[in-house]
Amino acid sequence: MAFESLANRLQNAFDKLRGRGKIDETVVNEAMREVRLALLEADVNFKVVKDFVARVKERAVGQEVMKSLTPGQMVIKIVNEELVALMGGNVAQLTMAHRPPTVIMMAGLQGAGKTTTTGKLAKYLQKQNKKPLLVAADIYRPAAIKQLQVLGEQLNVPVFSLGDQVSPVDIARQAIEHAKTNHLDVVILDTAGRLHIDEALMDELKQIREVAKPDEILLVVDSMTGQDAVNVAESFNSQLELTGVVLTKLDGDTRGGAALSVKAVTGKPIKFAAMGEKLDALEPFHPDRMASRILG
Ligand code: GDP
Repeated sequence: MAFESLANRLQNAFDKLRGRGKIDETVVNEAMREVRLALLEADVNFKVVKDFVARVKERAVGQEVMKSLTPGQMVIKIVNEELVALMGGNVAQLTMAHRPPTVIMMAGLQGAGKTTTTGKLAKYLQKQNKKPLLVAADIYRPAAIKQLQVLGEQLNVPVFSLGDQVSPVDIARQAIEHAKTNHLDVVILDTAGRLHIDEALMDELKQIREVAKPDEILLVVDSMTGQDAVNVAESFNSQLELTGVVLTKLDGDTRGGAALSVKAVTGKPIKFAAMGEKLDALEPFHPDRMASRILG
C-alpha cells in the first residue's frame, strides 16, 4: 500500500507523545528526532527533511495546546499541515489554452510509465468532455508507436502518427495542425523516453517545445525510485522548465520520498498521481489526502 512503511514509522514516533501533559522542547525534540529518521528512511531529500523538522519545531515549541487536543495531537496537527505545504498545498490544476488546442508535452525516462500515463491523461480529459489527440512522437522505440495506437483504440481516442521516419519536431507541428482542422481540444505529445538523460534527448525536447509551445510540460517519474526520481525531475526542470510532475506507481511506493521531495526540490507541483496499471488509475494529486495517508 502507498506510504505504508512511512505511515507505520511515524505512528511509532507519535506513540511516544501519548500521555504527555504539555508541549515542551524536550517532548518536541524527542518526537522530531523520530520523525526525522522516518523521513530519511522514506528517502526524502536530506535538506528537505532538515528544513521540515526545523519548521515543525519552531511552530510546536511553546504552542498553546488547543483545549480539544492532547499535546501529541497538537504536534501531529502541525506535522500534518507542514506535510500538506511540503507537497504544494493545493491541488495544482492543468493549464488550458485560451484558444484550443491545449498542448501537453509528456516527457520522462524509459520505464517511468510515460506512455501509459499519456493514455490515462487522455481518458481523464475525455471524462471532462474534452477531445484529446494522442501524438506518437517517440520514433526511436518502434513499440512505443504501437503501444500508443493500442491505447488509442481502447479509449476510442485518435492517435496521430507519421511512422518513425519523420522527425518528432515535424510530427508535433503537423499534429497540432491536424488537431486544429479536426477541432480536437487537447494535443498530448508522447515524446521519446531514453534510459538516461543525455544531450540529444534534451535538444530534441527543446526543439519540440519551440515548435509546439506547450501549455504544459509534464515530467513522468516513477515514485518507487525515490530520490532518483527527484534528481531526474531536477535535471529536466533545469533544461526544460517543467510545468508539473506526474508521479507514477504510487500503488507500489511504501516510502513516499519522491512525493515528499519533488515540489520542495524543483519548485514544480505534482499535478497527477498514478496508482495502478489500469487506464483509470490517474488522479489529480491532492496534498491533503496524501498527508492523511502518511499520517495513517
Ligand atoms: P514508458 O517507457 O515510460 O513509456 O513506460 P510505460 O508506460 O510503458 O510503463 C512501464 C511499465 O510500468 C508498464 O508495465 C506499465 O503498466 C507500468 N506502470 C505505469 N504506471 C503505473 C502505475 O501507476 N502503477 C503500476 N503498478 N504500474 C504502472
